[in-house]
Amino acid sequence: MKNNENEFKIPFNKPFIIGNELENISKAVKENLHLSGNGPYTRSCQSWLEKQLNCRKALLTHSCTGALEMAAILADLKPGDEVIMPSFTFVSTANAFVLRGAVPVFVDIRPDTLNIDETLIESAITPKTRVIVPVHYAGMGCEMCVIQSVADRYNLFVIEDAAQGLLSTYKGKYLGAMGHLGCLSFHETKNIICGEGGALLINDESMIERAEIIWEKGTNRSLYFRGDIDKYSWVDLGSSFLPGEINAAFLWAQLEHANEIIRKRCLLFDYYASLLKPLMEKGQIRLSIINEDCTSNGHIFYIITRNFEERTLLINHLKKYGIQAVFHYIPLHSAKAGKKFGRSHGLLHVTKSISERLLRLPIYYEMTEQDVEKVAERIKQFYS
Ligand SMILES: *Cc1c(COP(=O)(O)O)cnc(C)c1O
Repeated sequence: MKNNENEFKIPFNKPFIIGNELENISKAVKENLHLSGNGPYTRSCQSWLEKQLNCRKALLTHSCTGALEMAAILADLKPGDEVIMPSFTFVSTANAFVLRGAVPVFVDIRPDTLNIDETLIESAITPKTRVIVPVHYAGMGCEMCVIQSVADRYNLFVIEDAAQGLLSTYKGKYLGAMGHLGCLSFHETKNIICGEGGALLINDESMIERAEIIWEKGTNRSLYFRGDIDKYSWVDLGSSFLPGEINAAFLWAQLEHANEIIRKRCLLFDYYASLLKPLMEKGQIRLSIINEDCTSNGHIFYIITRNFEERTLLINHLKKYGIQAVFHYIPLHSAKAGKKFGRSHGLLHVTKSISERLLRLPIYYEMTEQDVEKVAERIKQFYS
């Protein structure tokens, strides 16, 4: 098997194994004899997340997309209800709510963190607004204090899209563990991986029982397994949101090494920052920043070029030397489905400008410091 990634000496991302991933899978098959969802590996992963992130309840899902869809069901949205979110995000942030008939309302981002501009949220609220979705871009926390106080005043749900945020903190709290609900991703492009995977974090105690029902196809099977009832049946909306144990077995090995993975990524992140600082000082590029109240998990290291053309030339320059650097989102408000299903609040100038100029540099667990030096050298060469 061969794919485009193999053409690059330094790819943008590279899936990896760090511990007992394959042994765990073998054990799931041969010893546990449990390959469907909600088995021993799923439970280990869930308790790890609950303890490490300090959240009430974690449920593994087949993706962060699935976790967002569960969150949208839990928020009990009706057609026409509005959900405030940035336009600079992945499609699933919006899609999950559109599936419930809700309308995404796109708000501009801050030029520094590239997260939703919290000062614009209140003016986007209408009588139909039900939810705010802070997306923690690049694993950097949104201004949660401001967002939560607006949500409290207007009685809105806060659903964090923390797909990129595992183990990052904002004012000492873990991303995904602050809103009513939080959504994580273990997709192969994220920090901690299992191919396709995710988790719903339920921080509001009153939503736990219903979340378990939605997770198990709308049945009260979880209560049955705990021995709380003597037969299970269809009680509410739901779907199959559980991952199988093979994915959970892989994920468990990664979670056991989560801090080590993040330490390595942060090291690469800091090294990029120190090598590229001279270009920033000359005003040629702007670099990823870490906000004062936050700690980073080294998920994305990006640079921002002066304009779109310069970015295209730089991508091609790096490609010539076997380095894969990639841009990011096409803003949702400017996409076909975004125009059809959502609406914009204001002009979203920052979103447009950033999406045309942002470039993500290679960063992955097995990347070496020499690789970082090679990338930085080629960027410096481009600007000299
Ligand atoms: C990756 C990502 C998702 C989707 O995650 P999946 O696990 O692939 O479904 C959603 N939102 C954001 C911000 C992401 O980065």
